[in-house]
Amino acid sequence: MGKTTGFLEYPRTENPYRDALERLRDFDDLHTAQPADARRCQAGRCMDCGVPFCQSDFGCPLHNLIPEWNDLRYQGQEKEALVRLLLTAPFPEFTGRVCPALCEKACNLADNGVTNRDNELYLIETAFSKGWIRPRIPAVRTGKKVAVVGSGPAGLAAADLLNQLGHAVTVIERADRPGGLLLYGIPNMKLPKEIIARRVRLMEAEGVTFLLNTSATPDLPDAYDAVLLCCGSRKPRPLHAEHMDADGIYFAVDYLTAATRGVLSKAAPGVTAQGKHVVVVGGGDTGNDCVGTALRQGCQSVLQLEMMPKAPESRPDGNPWPQWPRTLRTDYGQAEAIFLQGSDPRVYETTVKSIRVDAANRIIGLETVRLQKQPDGKLTPVPGTEQTLPCDLMLIAAGFIGCEEETLSRFSLSADARGRLLPKDGSHHLEGKLFSAGDMRNGQSLVVRALADGRNAAKEIHAFLL
Ligand SMILES: Cc1cc2nc3c(=O)[nH]c(=O)nc-3n(C[C@H](O)[C@H](O)[C@H](O)COP(=O)(O)OP(=O)(O)OC[C@H]3O[C@@H](n4cnc5c(N)ncnc54)[C@H](O)[C@@H]3O)c2cc1C
Ligand code: SF4
Repeated sequence: MGKTTGFLEYPRTENPYRDALERLRDFDDLHTAQPADARRCQAGRCMDCGVPFCQSDFGCPLHNLIPEWNDLRYQGQEKEALVRLLLTAPFPEFTGRVCPALCEKACNLADNGVTNRDNELYLIETAFSKGWIRPRIPAVRTGKKVAVVGSGPAGLAAADLLNQLGHAVTVIERADRPGGLLLYGIPNMKLPKEIIARRVRLMEAEGVTFLLNTSATPDLPDAYDAVLLCCGSRKPRPLHAEHMDADGIYFAVDYLTAATRGVLSKAAPGVTAQGKHVVVVGGGDTGNDCVGTALRQGCQSVLQLEMMPKAPESRPDGNPWPQWPRTLRTDYGQAEAIFLQGSDPRVYETTVKSIRVDAANRIIGLETVRLQKQPDGKLTPVPGTEQTLPCDLMLIAAGFIGCEEETLSRFSLSADARGRLLPKDGSHHLEGKLFSAGDMRNGQSLVVRALADGRNAAKEIHAFLL
């Protein structure tokens, strides 16, 4: 244990956001890093618990050795701390930026949990800046070839481990750059895209081949000893209303992809919220990213419609520690909207009733209606609560309903009722040489879960090959 009384002496402090007025002018990193001394104190808050819930199934899906590297970090043994971190965490520079940090909510300090996410980010970024991260070239090659389809976090984590285990790995990605939703999904201010490119360069130096602008073909099992499908859960949940084909209506990921392409090319994005009244349908994290992006593009106004009631401020009954708290969270985009517009952009228990278009089939407004939860749990519209909103850009962020049919049909595979390629025996092995991992196997989830699943699939493939 780093400092016996650390958790009593040092208040919890996270890496602060940049000032809202400043950060709204660009797509640069939201956060600023705290100085090394402050981070050391934060690591010193860890109590090295006998039963570290941070590492449990309630906490980190990678089962990171959190108390060990917090202790080493506090003792000033940063290199040793990094070694312990990298034993289980393939890409701390991603999770250190985008992970919701399940471990911090499961921490025995409960609502005052140790800032593990910022601590891991400190360790990995220190390592990169001091030149400690160098290509790890496997000493022995097995002569086996593995194709990993999809370069999101699941595919990257699997490719990384399979390569380290000595197999020749080719990542096949249909997009023009690797990263999956890390790249074209999560906005640049949450995960600057150079961070992904830096990791990909490292993996290439370690021997992983990336084939971009390439879609998976059914003959892959003929050319490789194993094929791992990590194609994500990319089918968006549609909204059923008339005029859904109108100009100005986009799925969230398409809009966010266009925004990131604009940031990367330093050109105007293909779709922009500039000067528009924006309505985001869906109150979750993806919707929040749309709000933050629309504000940076200079929208005139932004609202976020949510079907569910507002979450409570404190844990509801039946949701005790160490479970993830189902409480009200105001994320960066919503906080920025409150800062600029003076009110919360979220409108609860409300959905779209109809869409209004002009003669050229462009969206000009929405009619919304309030919803009420019935005793059977169904949400039904409340007559007489209709409202008209101006809207010239509608973004649908209503979640995802499974993997895309195109990839399934290419490999003659069928998904389960929830759109997942989840083998019945709970493994990653589908049939023959085919395996699945990440959101494609488990449904829409989190980066850290995709990383953990990719690594588990890699271990299974390794056993299969040998
Ligand atoms: C807008 C948004 C923001 C998010 N923010 C966060 C966050 O802050 N924190 C967090 O933990 N999680 C977040 N998530 C969830 C997280 O991004 C996903 O759970 C995670 O990326 C899933 O990883 P994956 O590798 O399984 O799939 P994906 O990241 O979806 O990657 C799948 C890849 O497969 C490729 N592909 C698909 N089909 C083919 C094919 N036939 N041939 C070749 N390539 C193919 C795709 O192009 C893609 O690159 C967010 C999700 C979204 C949509
Ligand atoms: S539960 Fe919290 S205090 Fe205990 S070991 Fe884990 S991070 Fe440290």
